[in-house]
Amino acid sequence: MITEEKILSTRHAWQQELSRAITRPEELIRVLDLDRGLLPAAYAAAKRFGLLVPRSYVALMAPSEPQDPLLRQVLPLAEELWSPPGFSTDPVGERAAVCTPGLLRKYQGRALLLLTGACAIHCRYCFRRHFPYREDSAQLDRAAGAVRRLAEDPSIREVILSGGDPLMLDDEPLAILIGKLEEIPHLRRLRLHTRLPIVLPARVTDRLCHILSASRLQPVMVVHTNHARELGSAARSALERLRNAGVLLLNQSVLLRGVNDSAHRLAALSETLFECAVVPYYLHLLDRVLGAAHFESDEATAIEILDQLRTLLPGYLVPRLVKETAGEPYKIPLGLYKLDTKTKKGAL
Ligand SMILES: *Cc1c(COP(=O)(O)O)cnc(C)c1O
Ligand code: SF4
Repeated sequence: MITEEKILSTRHAWQQELSRAITRPEELIRVLDLDRGLLPAAYAAAKRFGLLVPRSYVALMAPSEPQDPLLRQVLPLAEELWSPPGFSTDPVGERAAVCTPGLLRKYQGRALLLLTGACAIHCRYCFRRHFPYREDSAQLDRAAGAVRRLAEDPSIREVILSGGDPLMLDDEPLAILIGKLEEIPHLRRLRLHTRLPIVLPARVTDRLCHILSASRLQPVMVVHTNHARELGSAARSALERLRNAGVLLLNQSVLLRGVNDSAHRLAALSETLFECAVVPYYLHLLDRVLGAAHFESDEATAIEILDQLRTLLPGYLVPRLVKETAGEPYKIPLGLYKLDTKTKKGAL
């Protein structure tokens, strides 16, 4: 029998899981049986951008393996304290693109709504790690101004819910917001950029699937996965629920040194994503954000990896390698030509 208590506890399962996430470097090191010598640097780096990782994601990591590709995405390291030239706190010019608090409008036809600064995981390479969320995320009560602005601009066909992670909002506030967006006649598509189906799959509730499938707006979800091992059984089942709700599923990754910077790893990622009905969309070059220099692969290496990837996969499983450049009207595609292996320069 389904009691009210049971419904309540299922609805809040993801919040409960989130409240139990690991935030202390000491605990992460202990759970994974890693060298305690990593601790002082972890604490120093975590002061700038805190450690946060759900336990279900930690369970996908190999114990006693400091190079584990999932661990590298979340463990604060001494390298984050480097300040090499060319790395800044706002590498993609995001602050300049804010038109109304919480609304980013960089590209024609689509606008990005920053709903919250919160995430369920802190990815060490995140380009928003220094972003002043408190002033600039719409937080639902302030979203009204952003929604009004969208209503006034008939050139916008697609609204992108982003953050932080928009799915940090609970289902009911999201339903109310989506209802308001549906009233804007020129909007056609609703896109969500979220990492939660991968790192906290319990967030994909039946209610969320229903909200998306019942919407007048065509739902698109861009999830964020960097390595095939992130797709455990819970994430796979969350993606299946979304797909069954009629949501088009795409993936974006960031090319990260020591995580996925090889054609074979990226091929395994694409193949695994496709098993979950997710199509690879973007492979981003790292945004040069302060604290993330140790993740960077140079452009020539990235193009070379993409060139090899093309030999391993059907065209529809090869993501578009892109670089975000402040002031450009779209994300700049790289490696569209064949690489000259001698000079490492692109040739048409
Ligand atoms: C990446 C991004 C988009 C979406 O770009 P697509 O190429 O449509 O995926 C929209 N707005 C902003 C501000 C972005 O950074
Ligand atoms: S989930 Fe996305 S926004 Fe949040 S920390 Fe990771 S990369 Fe940044």
